[in-house]
Amino acid sequence: MTLETYSVRQGRDILAPAANVMMPAAAALYDGLRGSSTPPLTIAFTQLWKLNTWDGPAREYAWKLATQTVYCGTFARNGDGDGVRLPCSLCQTGAIDSAFHRVHECRLTQVAWKWARRVLGVLGVGPQDYGADRTGAFMLYGATPFVMPYPVIDEVRVVRARRVVSVLRGTFFTAHRRIASGRAFAPGLDEDERAAAAAAARTTLPVETLARQMRHEMQREMLLDYIHGGGDFQRSFGFGAAPESVRPRDHIEFKQAWGQLFTKYNDAAHTIQDGLPRIYPEPD
Ligand SMILES: [Zn+2]
Repeated sequence: MTLETYSVRQGRDILAPAANVMMPAAAALYDGLRGSSTPPLTIAFTQLWKLNTWDGPAREYAWKLATQTVYCGTFARNGDGDGVRLPCSLCQTGAIDSAFHRVHECRLTQVAWKWARRVLGVLGVGPQDYGADRTGAFMLYGATPFVMPYPVIDEVRVVRARRVVSVLRGTFFTAHRRIASGRAFAPGLDEDERAAAAAAARTTLPVETLARQMRHEMQREMLLDYIHGGGDFQRSFGFGAAPESVRPRDHIEFKQAWGQLFTKYNDAAHTIQDGLPRIYPEPD
């Protein structure tokens, strides 16, 4: 059993029995987030668990955000029975933390979305190609160019949109989970302590933090894709026997997927020079 299949099965076994409770909350969030061409919720859920290379914790975090069961300080069902509403610990807006806030309106997410659009722009993939016109819809529900109603996308651009969109979303959840959990307030704190923690948090976290961590994770995924495309990866890790890897099968597919985002591979150092857009400090 590979890590990939293990985490999918494990996640489903844990979470499926509670799906009937979660679905109304998931549907409500979906109605608030979706854009004009967001894929159906069923497809979006499938994309959370399959067709990606996200690690187990990132998949589970995405699922919890989609079903509004992540601990945001706003949901009584998570044990916050006193109804305390906490502000987001990441941005300086004082907005109440929630799944909607985290994937859509948080300032750090907005900066990350701005950078993600620049990444797609380097590939020549525009909003009309990846089927998402809103931040939260893109990050949480993804893009399905293959089910889009109009046949305007050539094959190479579809490959790029699918792989890079998938990696962008995975890096968002990986990075966001890391930042948010590192700054989550312990439920045991009283209100004054929470306020103090929130104030301290607000003064120390640049809004580019999430985008920077996503960029770092993307460099790593690009390198893994490159190594995977070389064949040694499958042979070494037994991925050849996995049901279906969503990483590029060879270096031709790798270049189709990553396009101008890849510059060159350094054989001696086993590192990649990437063409990912830089992240500049945001004006206040
Ligand atoms: Zn925020």
